[in-house]
Amino acid sequence: MEEWRRILAESVVRPKDLAAHLGVNPREIEAVVGDYPMRITPTVLATIKEKDDAIWKQVVPDRAEMEDMDAEDDPLEEDLMSPVPHLVHRYPDRVLLMVTNQCPIYCRFCTRKRLVGKPGFLKKGELDQAIAYLKEHTEVRDVTLSGGDPLLLPDHLLERILKALRTIPHLELIRIGSRVPGSLPERITPKLCEIVKKYHPIYMNLHFNHPDELTPEVKAACGRLADAGVPLGAQTVLLKGVNDDPEVMKRLVHQLLLARVKPYYLYQADLTKGTNHFRTTVETGMNIIRALQGHTSGMAVPHFVIDAPGGGGKIPILPPDYLLHLDEDGAVLKNYENKTFHYPQPQNGTSRELPMVGASPSLSVCGVRPDPRRNGGLDDL
Ligand SMILES: *Cc1c(COP(=O)(O)O)cnc(C)c1O
Repeated sequence: MEEWRRILAESVVRPKDLAAHLGVNPREIEAVVGDYPMRITPTVLATIKEKDDAIWKQVVPDRAEMEDMDAEDDPLEEDLMSPVPHLVHRYPDRVLLMVTNQCPIYCRFCTRKRLVGKPGFLKKGELDQAIAYLKEHTEVRDVTLSGGDPLLLPDHLLERILKALRTIPHLELIRIGSRVPGSLPERITPKLCEIVKKYHPIYMNLHFNHPDELTPEVKAACGRLADAGVPLGAQTVLLKGVNDDPEVMKRLVHQLLLARVKPYYLYQADLTKGTNHFRTTVETGMNIIRALQGHTSGMAVPHFVIDAPGGGGKIPILPPDYLLHLDEDGAVLKNYENKTFHYPQPQNGTSRELPMVGASPSLSVCGVRPDPRRNGGLDDL
């Protein structure tokens, strides 16, 4: 058996083993894991320092998961946007392909809590169906492998998928979303890196939520991927009691850049059933962006997004106070130090070319520029 498989098999999955390690009440854990499985890899277990710390909260089952009765299993309506099994096509030019339901660790706040933990990988026939769909849909230029965690596939299955995807002429990018480098760094073997290299451009977005996750072994695993030419991004979920604090988040983004990982998305937590005890206010995320933008490297600032309930997709949120006013003369801007600046618009002749900004004072005051395509714009002039 490969070393990483042996290490994965040493993970804590049974309540009584968790009780032995962390002194929890096994019956309380038992009540949760029947519905929502647990797995804690040795790397992650070793990172837990005390009860209820930022790592503990992400992986140790909590009774609150069972008390969240009203929320929905699939608030993003991914199941409704699936033209063939395991494929989600929500945006014009890109899709998600779920290749497994297995993960190295089961995040308690998982958006796909309804699916994860079931055994098995994408079957040959299912892959064929997905490839046939993608061949037909020439508008798709970007596929993200997701799950579950694609890097838990054995090398030969991962390679089978990458090879099949590369038979699609119009497919440009392959992305892989994974929590493996941060939780099972031993999986990032030289052999895996050699496989990935053959199918570039491959991008990876790695899941990290707290600076303590960036141990030396984890950073080394990220370095191996970066050396294999894989551009690395990070996806972070804003989580109450874990990272809902500008200082923690600043440490996280700095650690990510040190690991050669560029912060990509900061997600507002979804409305998924069993995860509502992790939710924070929208202002919490805006304050974090405000604390980063201008105060530290622009490379360190992720896009803060809300994946809109009901299947609206990711919508970016910026603190509203950077653009104080916008009209045909110019923009009134506020910088990170709260100082105000004026940027003049180009004055090229007829005002007829200009959209109807300022026609609605209430809108321009809060910095929102009406979309001329939607409200008429030129036609209204
Ligand atoms: C997030 C997501 C993508 C990729 O979105 P990007 O904004 O391009 O990173 C694609 N499909 C679905 C369904 C997604 O949720």
